[in-house]
Amino acid sequence: MNTNSSNMMALAPNTSNKRETVCIFGTGDFGRALGHKMIQCGYPVVYGSRSTQISNMIPKDAEVLSHAEAAQKAAIIIIAIQRQHYNFLTPLAEILRGKVLVDISNNLKLNQYPESNAEYLAQLLPGARVVKGFNTVSAWALQSGALDASRQVFVCGDDMEAKQMVMNIVRALGLTPLDQGSLLAAQEIENYPLQLFPMWKFPVFLSLGLTAFFFFYCLVLDVIYTYVYEKQDFSFFIAITIPNQVCPVMALTLLGLVYLPGVLAAIIQLYRGTKYSRFPDWLDKWMLCRKQLGLIALAFASLHAVFTLVGPIRSFVRWRTSQGIISQALNNKTEPLDTTSAWLSDSYLALGILGFFFFVLVGITSLPSVSNSVNWREFRFVQSKLGYLTLILCTAHTLVYGGNWFLNPLAYKWYLPNIYMLGLVVPCTVLVVKFVLIFPCVDKPLTQIRQGWERNPKHSE
Ligand code: NAP
Repeated sequence: MNTNSSNMMALAPNTSNKRETVCIFGTGDFGRALGHKMIQCGYPVVYGSRSTQISNMIPKDAEVLSHAEAAQKAAIIIIAIQRQHYNFLTPLAEILRGKVLVDISNNLKLNQYPESNAEYLAQLLPGARVVKGFNTVSAWALQSGALDASRQVFVCGDDMEAKQMVMNIVRALGLTPLDQGSLLAAQEIENYPLQLFPMWKFPVFLSLGLTAFFFFYCLVLDVIYTYVYEKQDFSFFIAITIPNQVCPVMALTLLGLVYLPGVLAAIIQLYRGTKYSRFPDWLDKWMLCRKQLGLIALAFASLHAVFTLVGPIRSFVRWRTSQGIISQALNNKTEPLDTTSAWLSDSYLALGILGFFFFVLVGITSLPSVSNSVNWREFRFVQSKLGYLTLILCTAHTLVYGGNWFLNPLAYKWYLPNIYMLGLVVPCTVLVVKFVLIFPCVDKPLTQIRQGWERNPKHSE
């Protein structure tokens, strides 16, 4: 009787400015941090704890009572306790009937238990109104106020009113609640903080694998080959020369890999004559990590720019330049200016500078803070049109630099093509296929398919 009246009192709409008391079970790191933040925002806080002794770690204005006493003082109870201790709540079932219980717990492993912690709590206390929330916010961020990166609080629950009450608290604390639906979403919300850059795994491993491959490829051709046939030690190439060959090749290859799944998807749609059948899983996953591939490509392009800029202060480059001057002086012969080479070198540099500029522009637009401020059409324009322009400019930059090596037999050490030729394989393939795809006889049926037309409709009227 007593219990019920306390529930009714606490759930009654608040007409005054005074905030309702919130109870927090557990005076651990998270309980204290959340309590501190709530008191700052004007909520009276009462802790339910195994020990009612006030320690100096507890926020100053908070009360500390036994679990049963604390629960009776509030309609909302935040369970800041690990799941494995939830059994202690069973004897409190009657007191907790009708209360809003906020499960903020996380696990140590993905899908650690068959059901989510919040669902487990709801099974233990069927009379309570369980809401999942706050688990993606860390105690440290709450205490230090560094909540910029984790301002969003995922909330889910089966009781709409209870969920609204928790979302109101989230808002009052200056955070943004995101309603994720019913308690069924709790498992996903609990898995969220355990994920370590899920979209980055494939791009990072692919980049590491390709970088290692290209690095050893250059090592064999530029250092080992030269040592075996010319008895010259060029091992210092490992520091700058080889990285400055690997970085542009990686940047171009990864940029090509950003646009390759798009053209593959177009070919599949043309072949199937419909857009209503699923792409293979590998293609779906590849499409989802295009942004990450592009950002890694941009990082490689930036490194290439820095490695190139330090060229003039390298002792090897200064030695080679002075050798050229000395040999002209010794032969008493001045080399005439080769305008063709000057044109090629200036065009190659100009294409590189422009390509890098657009690369940075496309990279910046993919950042959430920027992409949120443009509409879908503007985003598509930058990512697709400017992205392809970047690919064309960067491919042309590489072609002008190393294109003539295709016909030079000296470029094929140990019958292997030069690394620049390898770097051109993916981008040139993408550009050639894209070129074919924009022909009207191919583009027209593709556009129709993307608008819903089917060659062999399954569901004819
Ligand atoms: P903690 O520092 O270990 O505190 C847990 C509290 O639970 C203890 O201080 C204790 O409070 C209470 N407790 C321990 N054993 C108990 C038992 N057998 N019976 C009843 N109560 C018991 O842990 P925490 O870091 O605050 O984390 C608490 C919950 O918040 C966890 O589920 C965690 O996953 C979640 N969480 C934590 C963070 C974070 O950054 N720390 C972030 C998001 C979510 P009393 O001594 O007062 O009884």
